Amino acid sequence: MIRPIGLRLVAAMIAAFLAFSAAASAQDEPERSITHIAGDLYRFQNQFHYSVFLVTPDGIIATDPINADAASWLKAELDTRFGVPVKYLVYSHDHADHIAGGEVFADTATVVAHENARVQIAGENRPTAVPDLTFTDRMTLRLGGKTVELIYLGLGHSDNSIVMLFPEERALFAVDVVTVNRLPYQDLRNNFVEHWIEGLKLIESLDYDILVPGHGVVGVPSDVAAHRKYIEDLRGQVLTHMRGGKTVDEIKALVDLGKYKDWGQFGAWSLLNVEGMYRHLSLYRRGN
Ligand SMILES: [Zn+2]
Repeated sequence: MIRPIGLRLVAAMIAAFLAFSAAASAQDEPERSITHIAGDLYRFQNQFHYSVFLVTPDGIIATDPINADAASWLKAELDTRFGVPVKYLVYSHDHADHIAGGEVFADTATVVAHENARVQIAGENRPTAVPDLTFTDRMTLRLGGKTVELIYLGLGHSDNSIVMLFPEERALFAVDVVTVNRLPYQDLRNNFVEHWIEGLKLIESLDYDILVPGHGVVGVPSDVAAHRKYIEDLRGQVLTHMRGGKTVDEIKALVDLGKYKDWGQFGAWSLLNVEGMYRHLSLYRRGN
């Protein structure tokens, strides 16, 4: 026979185990949120990735689905909050960490991307819906009296990166080409640096007030110029030292990025940025 004290102990142990399991599963849940940007434009977060969506009376224009689980969560939230289907799904570029899971919306949505993105997505067999509607330079989508302008950046972070301009909301969604007071990602892989700089200048020519990146915090248009100047500064210093015959290890010690020390990821990524710039210039620079 189990005495009451034993039963209480077993019950307490079970309760403690259940509480621990609940805490563990809460920690495993990805951080997801929907925040208001302006007008009918909202930002969707899944962990460290963000996209935006525009709500209209005739349906929703959604952007990067991020992954299938995130997209399913978003779809349920959109149904509950707005009760209109996603009519367009626009990809910022072909990289899977941003655009996986597009099939979740493909039953109601026309999937839109740059023509080169369609080629990459089909060719690499990305785990997402292949775009139905593509363009080469610019395209305007209209739905329910709302507008989004899709603008090709040229060869830069990929061969198919676009930005999305929401004129009524005066907001711009830009993915992997700019972050706000934060260093570019790690070793700059996939970035054709000189074209990337030109793409940022193109963004600087656009008329909007709110910069909404695919990673990190929301900013303002001047953050784009700051990001471009960082890349130009990094490129200029690395190039000077390469022309001076320095090795990559010497250049990592010589490059001075001190004025960006307060930017996000400075400690983790500044030397990786130097390595990436060195690799890029080694591939594309012709020395003597
Ligand atoms: Zn990317």
